[in-house]
Amino acid sequence: MAGRILIVDDVATNRIVMKVKLAAACYSVEQAENGLEALRVARETKPDLILLDIMMPDMSGVDVCRALKADPATSGIPVVLITALSDHDAKMEGLEAGADDFLTKPVEEVTLLARVRSLLRASDAVREMQGGNDTVAAFGFAESAAGFSAKAAPGKVALVAPGPRGAVLWKAAIEDRLGGTVSIIPREAALTEASSETGRSTDVFVVSVDLGQRNEGLRLLSDLRSRAGTRHAATIMILPEGDTERAAIALDLGANDVLHDPFDAKELAIRISAQLDRKRQSDRMRAGVRAGLEAAIYDPLTGLHNRRFALPQLELMMSRPGPGPAVMMLDLDHFKQVNDTYGHAAGDAILKQVASRLRAQLRNDDLLARIGGEEFLIGLSPINHSNAVECAERLCRSIGEAAFDIDANGPPVHVTASVGLTYPAEHSGFSTPEMLIHDADTALYRAKSQGRNQVRVISDTAA
Ligand code: GH3
Ligand code: MG
Ligand code: MG
Repeated sequence: MAGRILIVDDVATNRIVMKVKLAAACYSVEQAENGLEALRVARETKPDLILLDIMMPDMSGVDVCRALKADPATSGIPVVLITALSDHDAKMEGLEAGADDFLTKPVEEVTLLARVRSLLRASDAVREMQGGNDTVAAFGFAESAAGFSAKAAPGKVALVAPGPRGAVLWKAAIEDRLGGTVSIIPREAALTEASSETGRSTDVFVVSVDLGQRNEGLRLLSDLRSRAGTRHAATIMILPEGDTERAAIALDLGANDVLHDPFDAKELAIRISAQLDRKRQSDRMRAGVRAGLEAAIYDPLTGLHNRRFALPQLELMMSRPGPGPAVMMLDLDHFKQVNDTYGHAAGDAILKQVASRLRAQLRNDDLLARIGGEEFLIGLSPINHSNAVECAERLCRSIGEAAFDIDANGPPVHVTASVGLTYPAEHSGFSTPEMLIHDADTALYRAKSQGRNQVRVISDTAA
């Protein structure tokens, strides 16, 4: 985990006290003694976290925070505002300026370090995904810009409180200030969502530390963080006033934020909104990474798997017990001529239709990949020799028997395909995917040289 922290305070003693605490926990510390210096150092050194005093002579911490969040170079750095007074208005102003949290002087060590760990962990996760997305973007697989409009979607907030009374008060306090839906759910419903495979409907859980029993909220937090259905949701833990010890535990268990009761409704609403924004950002990033992974194994034109996916998949099919797989190479006949006559766009339209005709002939667990321009690889999961030949004939016919529509006005275009099939003998354990492909290629070559639009077979059993 990264750990460079910038301390901003106009009083040298304050900086030193803080530095000692952080250095003891093995963080490296930089310092700035006023707002302008803080902005400069932040821009130059890109620290992982900024601890920012509110009361400074040149520029208030809130203004510094606003400037940091407005600058793309520093907007991703978490900021914790530090104040000597529990000045309610300054606190709200700071949170609205984008501060990630607030600590009151004298800053208690356990709370400080738990906060620092939690914020660094969160920004580490973002950075990791960002790295993935940069790689994805560099390969030209960037997510569509449409993803960014998702910001407008209202969030779903779920409150889990000890009794109905508390929850009703919380709900009333925040509902008007938030755009999305706020619901009160029992602990059991949160657990059900956590253990569902596809859950992910709640964006932010607000959970009381004690539910039916003491610490039951903390146990629920662990479940929410670790299970598939809720792992990506944010959790805000509500604790009694002064319970800093359990606040630190909650943060270490993965709470995204903690708040002490009685709290200000506006503060809870702001903290929920901040978590909603953060969650949307990471949802988008995850979607970007997923799109990148998909782009790496799918052919964008036909939606079939590509060569990179096909070879290891074939190897996997070969490692399974039983006969097979039968492997085919299918290549369109005289396709260059089709392109030359009707244009490349027409060629592309035909390739797409070829893909869906082939798919329609195959079973779900058969492999179908476009591994070259007009070349397809097919791997048939366990099947006997005569059925494999029959399937190859069927694929060949599915291309040649009906013409392809390329546009509404033009005439349909007739295209044929040649197929090479290889079918290894049962338990011929020494084949590799490359050997099967080579044999299928040889068979394909024979089909081409013997007149095209036909199937040729090479196999151990019928050589
Ligand atoms: P053969 O019967 O011997 O296979 O002849 P062919 O013309 O199909 O074979 P050749 O390998 O000479 O040419 C393949 C052609 O496929 C070249 C190119 O015009 C076309 N092609 C390859 N990839 C694409 C593609 O992504 N889109 C389109 N429209 N055409 C492609
Ligand atoms: Mg061809
Ligand atoms: Mg070819």
